Amino acid sequence: MAADSLRRVQVFARDALLDACALLVPVSCAGCGAPDRSVCADCVGALRPRPEVVTRDGISAWAALEYGGVVAQVVTAYKDSSRTDAAAPLARALHAALAEAVAGRPAGALEVCAVPSTPAAMRARGYAPVDALLARCGIRPSSVLRLARDRRDQAGLGAEARRANAHGALEARRRLDERRFVLVDDVLTTGATIAEAARAVTAAGGAIDAVVVLAQTPLRRSGPSSESRQPLRDIGSADDYGGRTGVVDPPFRSG
Ligand SMILES: [Zn+2]
Repeated sequence: MAADSLRRVQVFARDALLDACALLVPVSCAGCGAPDRSVCADCVGALRPRPEVVTRDGISAWAALEYGGVVAQVVTAYKDSSRTDAAAPLARALHAALAEAVAGRPAGALEVCAVPSTPAAMRARGYAPVDALLARCGIRPSSVLRLARDRRDQAGLGAEARRANAHGALEARRRLDERRFVLVDDVLTTGATIAEAARAVTAAGGAIDAVVVLAQTPLRRSGPSSESRQPLRDIGSADDYGGRTGVVDPPFRSG
């Protein structure tokens, strides 16, 4: 074979390989769309956890991030566009909020209960977003809740509609007497889903010690008491949460 023919074959093979890789490996940032892999450095910075306590529907929750901008882009890409490559910074954020929520609590006393996805969402995604993030944190949630009846996705519904849609939608799989839980969900909006999950756990005899969400949607200022925020102590860099021994203990075994 002549040398230039061989070179043409090599170039063709190389281009074909790169094309194949482009299909397998994300080539744009899930946060800003810039040509990059998974999440670019700037967007990772925007996902740096800033855990704070927010209150919705009478329930206080630790939220790792504020939903909006890059956070919303990455969370949506992760949940709805199969961008599981964006999971790492989201898991880091969730872990930081979990660590804050269980700080000072007796080791091993708490179990993690994730709010279950609807069957339709599970079918569409092929994975449970919260469970997958918890797995990256080295946490396997207890199988506690299941859907008591089908419900619509909460997205696009107003506060009242969400409450009506959520009420009675969940139930515990069994009695939960003497068991204490940290309830975990992805995005907190009006709090209707979390309130329903808490209702289902306590109705079965379980107790909710803390609520943790990946991100919270700031409420529009519609009333003076619609939202309350509690500024929290500086938790240091996003990377040092795992170094706080005793904070993340079984069942919060750190990965
Ligand atoms: Zn980016």
